[in-house]
Parts: sequence; structure tokens; C-alpha cells
Amino acid sequence: MSIPPSSLRVAIVGSGPAGFYAAEALQKAAPGISIDLIDRLPTPFGLVRGGVAPDHPKIKSVTRIFDRIATHPGFRYLGHVRVGQDVTVEELRARYHMLVLCYGAETDRALGIPGEQLAGSHAATEFVAWYNGHPDYAATHFDLTQGEVAVVGIGNVAMDVARILAKPTSVLAATDLADHALQALAASQVHTIHLVARRGPVQAACTTPELRELGELEGVEVIVDPRDLELDAASEAQLAAMEDRNPAKNLDVLREWASRPRTGAPRKVVLHFNASPVALSGNERVEGMTIVRNRLESDGRGGVRAVPTDDTQQLPVGLVFRSVGYKGKALPGVPFDERTGVVPNLRGHVVEQAGSTATVPGLYVAGWIKRGPQGIIGTNKLCATDTVTQLLADVAAGDVPVLPEGVSSIDQLLAERGVTVTSWADWQTLDTAEQARGAASGRPRLKITNVQEMLEIIAAGPA
Ligand code: NAP
Repeated sequence: MSIPPSSLRVAIVGSGPAGFYAAEALQKAAPGISIDLIDRLPTPFGLVRGGVAPDHPKIKSVTRIFDRIATHPGFRYLGHVRVGQDVTVEELRARYHMLVLCYGAETDRALGIPGEQLAGSHAATEFVAWYNGHPDYAATHFDLTQGEVAVVGIGNVAMDVARILAKPTSVLAATDLADHALQALAASQVHTIHLVARRGPVQAACTTPELRELGELEGVEVIVDPRDLELDAASEAQLAAMEDRNPAKNLDVLREWASRPRTGAPRKVVLHFNASPVALSGNERVEGMTIVRNRLESDGRGGVRAVPTDDTQQLPVGLVFRSVGYKGKALPGVPFDERTGVVPNLRGHVVEQAGSTATVPGLYVAGWIKRGPQGIIGTNKLCATDTVTQLLADVAAGDVPVLPEGVSSIDQLLAERGVTVTSWADWQTLDTAEQARGAASGRPRLKITNVQEMLEIIAAGPA
């Protein structure tokens, strides 16, 4: 069907960075285009609200751009709508010419080791969602009476988790960290945080500013074994061939830490490079972790892989956070590649299955569910723009599904089902309420972490 882009009806699922950047790219190409941005929560912004660390407020200021996108004519926020439960993908496809899925990577990857299911073993992503006040995790309990904790993985999420565990709560109190988390962290007895990285410093996934922050925390010393910084031949070769300067800068930071005299600070972050967890032990709950020492070797493709040795060690930890990556989930009615955890696509246009070139009319993806859980917020702008470029090329080629006639509107459908749909104005009511509550206790905001309470505040109207 041939249609001018400004006459398209588009629904975007997921109001994180990819969703907003997809909306922006569509608005730039077709001012006034009708976009419904659907999210399961009355609060928008995905991982900017529920993932970015509360002590990194500058990163969160990207929401000012999203606010502007939301004021464009034709834009609506349909909050508190669960796609897959309140409305199916098929029902959306009958009501919108184009559906752009930006629902991210909702779950986490497991280690697959014995004892992983014991109490006290958690996904780092749950801890992140908890301290950021995500309603699904507000009631989760983390046993912070434990003295020693392990964080597995050395990406930026591991950095965030280690820092939030180590940072004085007097400093965190100036952030929008969820109040339940602030109280729990204030009573925390955690004194030693083991960061367990399966490969060496050259392969560490974290970025240098995030790594460096760990060494700047008040009352915290970072312990690095200088022997871990002696590079094997494969890592030397990899470092020499890299264009990315991040690993070399990480090494500088680590070498400086290794040369610091011990201070006896009350909290310690201990880095274990070339080490993998092989088992968690304990009766009812985690009482220890066995790690095996790895040696590194070339993988023959320019990379370096970890190979376990016979050398094992026990860490006396009572709490474990696996921080080994997020993972995408399948959505009924949408092709999904279980192996990679993404929706198979060609430049954002969903294909029938991985490896296929047969596209699904009107179905697109952007963000982590398109390319996997990597990159910073800005990466999603490029990713979403790429998807929208493809979408518009398809529109220009006449590849637009014809919508069936006589179908009720999305508003009617959701009303019939008793779904309380919340709007952008409703979010602004919540935003104002959160900021007012925060001001009363000298904090930027006090997050509302219960959906029912959000709906009650919205029903009461703006203060
Ligand atoms: P990530 O950067 O992919 O790091 C995952 C870590 O887990 C790596 O160290 C990886 O080691 C390790 N790992 C994977 N499987 C493992 C296993 N089976 N056993 C032991 N270790 C394993 O993922 P992330 O930390 O979840 O972050 C996701 C994305 O969000 C990243 O792009 C990150 O930069 C971004 N992010 C950015 C910020 C920020 O900018 N401040 C904050 C948070 C997150 P290998 O390298 O050996 O695979």
C-alpha cells in the first residue's frame, strides 16, 4: 500500500532510550506523525530510570531530550499497558501500520553452576532494579548482613553494583536511589566485595571512568594483585592490535591501584582476574563460592579465551551477584532467536526467523532486543535511527500493511478490557509528586515504587 509517512499510525513498544529515539527519528522524517508509545509502567524511560545508577545523574539528564520528543504533535504515551497480556501483538498489528518493538532485554544470563539457585544468589540486574525502585523488585530482599559479597563479571553493571555496595550511604542519600534501598544499605554490614573476572585486565568489559570511580570512594580500598597485571602473550598481542584505548587506560588505573600502599579502609573491593566461579556452596543459602584459576590463550581469531586450570580457591561469601549480562525475552507473536536472545531482523525489519531474508510486514525492532545488551544510551540513537531509515525506505517502496476495516480503536479495546491507561500528563503528575516528596527530605526525588500507589496519585490528579 502507498501512504505518505505523515499518515502512518505507528506504535512503539517500550519507552526506554531506543523507543524515544525511534519516535524522534520518525518525527524528524514526518512531522505530526501519529505515534503511540506503549509501556507497561506508568513511568517512562526504561533503563534510564530503572538501570542507570542513581549516583550518575548526568547520564539521566537525557530524559530532557525525551521530554521534548513527548511534546510533539501526534505523540501519545500509553502507560500501564502490558503488550502480550493486556493486548497482543496481533491486535496491535491490526491497529497500527507499523509496530516498532523496543522492549529491551528484560532478563539476565545465568552462570549454570551448581548452587546458583541457593538463597543469597541473585542476578545483578535484580539488585540494580531494586535500588532504582522498579516496582517489580521493590519487595526483593538482599541479605546485606553478610560481610563478604561476590560480584561475577567485570562490565559496567558490575562496576555499578560494587560501587553502590561500597559507597557511603551519606553520599547516596543525595541521589534518587530508592528509599527502601537507602535504608537497607545504611544498615549494610558488607565490608568486602570480591569482583570476579574470568579473563584478564585487557579483556575487562568496563569503561575506564566507571572503573576509576571504584578507587575514588571514601572509606574504600581497592586491592589488585600485581601478578594479575602481568600480561600473557595472547593479551599482549591483543592489546597491541587494539584501536580501542579503553583497555590500556584500564590497565593504567589498575597498575596505579596495585602500587598503592594498603590503607586498612573499612571497606575493600578485591579484584580477582583470570578466575571463574565453578560452584556456590551452602545448605539453605550461599555460604561460599569456589573459583577456579584460568589461564588465557589466543582463540585464533584475534581474541583471548579463558581455559580453567586445576587451581581452585574458596571465597567465604554469603551473597553473590552474577553480572554476566542481560538477556532478551520472546514476545508471543514475534519471531525470536533463542540462541542470541534477540528478535531476528535485517537493519531493524523483523524477519521470519534467524538467517531468513523474509521480512514480516510492519514489524520492526530497535535497541537491545534488536542487537543484544551492549552499548551506551547514545548507541540506541544510532540503532533506532537505522531502524527508522529502513522503515521509511519500506514505506517509500509501498511495503506498508493494509489495516483491516471495522476494527475497534486501541483506546476502545483497552477500555473494554478494563485497562487503566496512563498518559504523559499522568507521568508528569507522578514526576511532580516524586520531586515534591524528595524535596521534603533534601533529595532530588523519592521514587514511587508501587504501581497501585502510582494509579491512586494519578487518579487524585495534579497537586
Ligand atoms: P557486559 O559489558 O557485557 O559485561 C559482562 C561481563 O560478564 C563481562 O566481564 C563478561 O566477561 C562476563 N561474563 C559473561 N559470561 C560470563 C560467565 N559465564 N562467567 C563469568 N563471567 C562472564 O554487560 P553489562 O555489565 O551487563 O552491561 C551491559 C551494557 O550496558 C554494556 O554495554 C555496558 O557498558 C552498559 N552499561 C553502561 C553503563 C555506563 O555507561 N555507566 C552502566 C551500566 C551498563 P567476558 O568479557 O569474558 O565475556
